[in-house]
Amino acid sequence: MASEDEETTVAAVPQIVKDLQRTVRSGITRTAEWRMQQLRAILKLVQENEERIIQVIAQDIGKPAHEAFLTEIFVATASCKLAIKELKKWMAPQKVPITLIAFPGTAEVIPEPLGVALIISPWNFPFLLAIDPVIGALAAGCAVVLKPSEITPTVSSLLAELIPQYLDTDAIQVVEGGVPVVTALLEQKWDKIFYTGCPRVGRIVMAAAAKHLTPVTLELGGKCPLYIDNSVDLKVSAMRICQGKWGVNVGQACISPDYLLVEEDIVSKLVETIKATIVQFFGEDPSTSADLGRIVNEFHFQRLKGLLDDPRTAERIVYGGQCDKKSLSIAPTLVLDVPLDTPIMSEEIFGPILPIITVKGVEKAMDVILEFPKPLALYIFTTRKAVEEQLLTGISAGGVGINETISHFGVPGLPFGGVGESGMGAYHGKHSFDAFSHKKGVLHKGMGGDLPAKFPPYTDAKKSL
Ligand code: NAD
Repeated sequence: MASEDEETTVAAVPQIVKDLQRTVRSGITRTAEWRMQQLRAILKLVQENEERIIQVIAQDIGKPAHEAFLTEIFVATASCKLAIKELKKWMAPQKVPITLIAFPGTAEVIPEPLGVALIISPWNFPFLLAIDPVIGALAAGCAVVLKPSEITPTVSSLLAELIPQYLDTDAIQVVEGGVPVVTALLEQKWDKIFYTGCPRVGRIVMAAAAKHLTPVTLELGGKCPLYIDNSVDLKVSAMRICQGKWGVNVGQACISPDYLLVEEDIVSKLVETIKATIVQFFGEDPSTSADLGRIVNEFHFQRLKGLLDDPRTAERIVYGGQCDKKSLSIAPTLVLDVPLDTPIMSEEIFGPILPIITVKGVEKAMDVILEFPKPLALYIFTTRKAVEEQLLTGISAGGVGINETISHFGVPGLPFGGVGESGMGAYHGKHSFDAFSHKKGVLHKGMGGDLPAKFPPYTDAKKSL
């Protein structure tokens, strides 16, 4: 049911969209000057409010300050700086060669803003995943409605407070609220919808977009597998696995390693090395560590606890498993060789539990991975080129980390996005600009020099050309 505030917002939605459409029609958002101003303003917003942003993220989801700096502030700042540096290049038309049929002439691809974009963001990186697509949209010359997650209300209201202070309110509006508000937003006709969240809601978004044939980028989730064999340095690998699993939002990240597929000759040693690394990172009692975040809310706490309480999973816990409802904390937990048809292996975990499945050979690992929808991220820990190649070519995935977790997210040259059920479209760096642009193909011709053969009547002389 909609709250009173939400009802007011819902009623205001059609006018907000009309106003933004008017702004786009005015042409102001197309100019390089306006785009640059907005990008510089975002950079200023982030730099001047860094501490507040980190503090509200901690308040809403308990993310440690340093982690929030690294995974939200730092990435957003880098993304904005890159857009400022590259904007002119991204906006420049690209000449392309022509063929005989268009001769003489010149052809170019001109990126044009799609228009008014709706950006719907999730709670797990409540600042970054809201502001990063906004950077792409404004760089591309679009107007924007940003709908931050209602699960992180303090971050949402900080965005609603700061964005009008720094950015052009004729072109960017923050609309706050939950499902009733999103539903009202989705009824409008947009020129682009950029959604980050779960595949279930992704389907709702895409169905709504289909009514108006609106292009969508869907940044979704799923189970991200990690394969590891005996060619790697286990200590180094364990550090990277533990950082990716527990050092980034306690596993509440779309590209968190969801489960490990481990060659049987190293499984015991790897489990011991991961345990030692968890202790090294978070101490003997991780619940007292200031460097480990907590579960976002009671709903997700109960969901994760439910996965662990399943008897066939509970009996396979080899480390951790402690759950504290009061502090919403769940210890880093390892579950060894749980059956593949248990709930923990059939849904995205999105939390600090790591199933470890023993496999015999890379083909067996591939058989497991291929049972699931195409993942957002695939991690391959091996130094054997042939194994790397086999997984790279045999498994379709949104992105791949080889001997690394998570960090591919921070490489702006790499398109970030899913494939199949893990999403469609991509962003980051120039890909963000492209996500909000239409590539308009333009052929220029002068008034002379047409090729006679293309005009009727098609005489034999013309046909022999
Ligand atoms: P979510 O889908 O529940 O919420 C995201 C947004 O959708 C929110 O703004 C929310 O208001 C809206 N929403 C929720 N229910 C809705 C409904 N019934 N109708 C219309 N709108 C609705 O996602 P979440 O729980 O915030 O995030 C977790 C999921 O997101 C995971 O599956 C994770 O893998 C995925 N995720 C993906 C990425 C990525 O970049 N690919 C990043 C973060 C999270």
